[in-house]
Amino acid sequence: MALLKTLITRFVLPTSYRATAIRYTSTDQKIAETDDAPVEMENPYKKETRQCILCKLNITPDYKNYRLLSQFQSPYTGRIYGRHITGLCKQKQELVESEIKKAQNCAYMPYYYKDKTFLKDPKLFDPENPIRSHRF
Ligand SMILES: [Zn+2]
Repeated sequence: MALLKTLITRFVLPTSYRATAIRYTSTDQKIAETDDAPVEMENPYKKETRQCILCKLNITPDYKNYRLLSQFQSPYTGRIYGRHITGLCKQKQELVESEIKKAQNCAYMPYYYKDKTFLKDPKLFDPENPIRSHRF
């Protein structure tokens, strides 16, 4: 009987130790509830919205600003570059084309070549490497 009593006292944990163990688990649960909870955040894999250069700089093409419009014109043939080369959005590309035609009718811009005073202007895009391949 005495031996059984010693066995029980040896293998049963003291009450104070048990109490601390319980306290630790309770704090862990508290941490899980506060710091480790899922957080509302923006999608980090979201694609950035692409804007054309005229929308980005908030420029509306105008037939009187023929120096800007001449940058959308080929120096060899005077043709207006397509949207796959200029990278403009549809609205701005249509506006640029109509304003170039208006400027040509006002004799601000030539039809079949680019004004030689604007030949060294900085390039907004590279006609040799289109932004998108042509759709045909
Ligand atoms: Zn745009």
